[in-house]
Amino acid sequence: MTNEAKASASRPQANERSGQAAAAKPKEKPFFEKVALIGLGLIGSSLSHVMRREGLAGTISGAARSEKTLRRAAELGLADSFHQDPAEAVRDADLVFLNVPVGAMGPVAERIRPALKKGAILTDVGSVKQSVIRDVSPHVPEGVHFIPGHPIAGTEQSGPDAGFPELFENRWCLLTPLPGTDEKALDRLTRFWQACGSHVETMDPAHHDLVLGITSHLPHLIAYNIVATAADLEEVTESEVIKYSAGGFRDFTRLAASDPVMWRDVFLNNREAVLELLGRFMEDLHALQRAIRWGEGDKLYEVFSRSRRIRREIIEAGQDTPAPNFGRR
Ligand code: NAP
Repeated sequence: MTNEAKASASRPQANERSGQAAAAKPKEKPFFEKVALIGLGLIGSSLSHVMRREGLAGTISGAARSEKTLRRAAELGLADSFHQDPAEAVRDADLVFLNVPVGAMGPVAERIRPALKKGAILTDVGSVKQSVIRDVSPHVPEGVHFIPGHPIAGTEQSGPDAGFPELFENRWCLLTPLPGTDEKALDRLTRFWQACGSHVETMDPAHHDLVLGITSHLPHLIAYNIVATAADLEEVTESEVIKYSAGGFRDFTRLAASDPVMWRDVFLNNREAVLELLGRFMEDLHALQRAIRWGEGDKLYEVFSRSRRIRREIIEAGQDTPAPNFGRR
């Protein structure tokens, strides 16, 4: 059975989490002969680890901007060849992943355009979809299948050391195919992500940006803001904020430790959805403020009980651990 056939039949087993490239599976026919990873940070390195573990790529070429990242990626064995010019990395590749910040997708696509192979699948992992489609589409040559995507999987870490092969396991990967997308190419990319351990769904790009606006972008904005507010409080010292952080504050600091370039680009590129959701959020916050001011305990109880139910539903859906305090000791 080829790896391609196996993907729909079985789920990959979890490996020990490690910084080194995952042990390769014995050679079988891979999903793709050559995969190019443009960007070797958290997502790019995790893709490398899972592709190695599952034998999904014949060879992997990797590209990053800096010498430092390329050197470290080589030490970790994240690819078989390393390039500072992304065009060199995509030459002859059957599958090309753009794993760079959302604001860099357009310029990178323009650069690789002349080197893309006819029949190749070009995809991305960007956290915003409408802007990536707007910026990348004009650079996709005839005969190349551009299928935008977004794995809903991440951590607050970045760089080539951050990746691990289980990152995508039991997580959703949303594909936002354009009208007229080649069904065979879409099916191949879907089965590739399933082989990485993900559940795959297709979604309209505008709807994606709204859904992720509330489930990911707004929570990060709130976290960045609460950490900034605490840091600015004059009556409370910074050392007290850190010392007593287990009261709840530290859970926000995980989100607020995320890569500033990535998140700057997310907010600049999902502006409409985030501003719309922020308006709704502020109205609800004002309602809570009023309930506290007027001592409306029933109202507060009702809102807090609903939140508790949502947390339970997330656990039941297998998207988090039921262990108290997220399983921390
Ligand atoms: P990361 O760890 O910061 O890695 C980014 C990579 O892109 C690095 O290899 C970097 O190269 C390269 N790069 C940065 N700017 C570039 C530019 N202007 N031109 C060319 N290459 C550039 O980021 P990541 O977390 O993997 O995120 C990558 C993408 O995945 C983003 O679009 C993000 O929205 C999306 N995403 C992230 C998460 C998450 O939780 N982090 C989850 C899902 C999707 P150097 O190191 O050499 O600068």
